[in-house]
Amino acid sequence: MKEADIRPEGLLRRYLDLSAKDAAVCFGDAARHPVACVACAASRSVPQFEKTGFAYAQCSDCGTLFQTPRPPIEAFEAFYRDSESSRFWAEVFFPAVAEVRREKIFQPRVKRLATLCKEKGITVRRLVDVGAGYGIFLEEWSRAFPRTSLVAVEPSESMARECRTKGFEVIEEIVENVPSETAPADLVTSFEVLEHVYDPLPFLRGLRRLVRDGGWVFVSTLGIDGFDFQVLWEKSTQISPPHHLNFLSTRGFAELFRRAGFSDVTLTTPGQLDVDIVRNAMRQDPDILHDQRFVRSLIADDARAPAFQRFLVEQGLSSHVWVLARKKDQDNS
Ligand SMILES: [Zn+2]
Repeated sequence: MKEADIRPEGLLRRYLDLSAKDAAVCFGDAARHPVACVACAASRSVPQFEKTGFAYAQCSDCGTLFQTPRPPIEAFEAFYRDSESSRFWAEVFFPAVAEVRREKIFQPRVKRLATLCKEKGITVRRLVDVGAGYGIFLEEWSRAFPRTSLVAVEPSESMARECRTKGFEVIEEIVENVPSETAPADLVTSFEVLEHVYDPLPFLRGLRRLVRDGGWVFVSTLGIDGFDFQVLWEKSTQISPPHHLNFLSTRGFAELFRRAGFSDVTLTTPGQLDVDIVRNAMRQDPDILHDQRFVRSLIADDARAPAFQRFLVEQGLSSHVWVLARKKDQDNS
């Protein structure tokens, strides 16, 4: 898989332009308040850079990169409800790559997640997917495991409708507002949502609430310890406010999941795109790695680049992170 397969350059460029415009239109006058580390709650952080008016800092304790000072949550809610970049993503960008993503992302995702569940001895009779989007993951899961009872949690009206048309039970809410009488699941999944949420701790507790005692939560998101972030830092197109706010470190993930009431936290980084992302950045701006001669020669080599990507995955150094964690027993907080 290549970055251009799932994020074609023209669409990505347009999306980033619209995001920059929305940053001014939707947040221009919003008051901003410093927030503590979104992973470990430490109050000390070091400012790093600013992008389209959104500043990012790195936690002095766990190394998580997060957006602070932050506009109020209401501004983000209004932004997701009605903004040009959100509409463009839902109506143009995602539909254009949906079928490629089905094949390159969702089908392998189901296979890999099922293997992970097997390794952990998890029997998935009921699965809730939070931020289900167009329901492609649920479709692919039900194709592989037709007997699993499946639920989509999806706050966007148009995407919730799409999930309903596909025959899934749908709860049209953000996870924090899902009714507590909802039948608990063996596994709650959430793909590529954590980087967007205003406050990761209540979000994770929201996921936990939907799991039966001893059940499991699975989250995939972006991790700041990954290669492309470490090399590109503020030049990474994945750091795209107002959409992406949280980039946890490996230590940050462990802290956050512990605070949210999970144990047996397993983190893997099965990403395939780090090297390709840095190569593309270098193609767009040949000076981007001007002082990193070794990295430049390593990733320019067609034979070594894939081997290096495999090394990143093996060492937990890709920026695409998977976390599987178990809801602690005897703890109903
Ligand atoms: Zn921290």
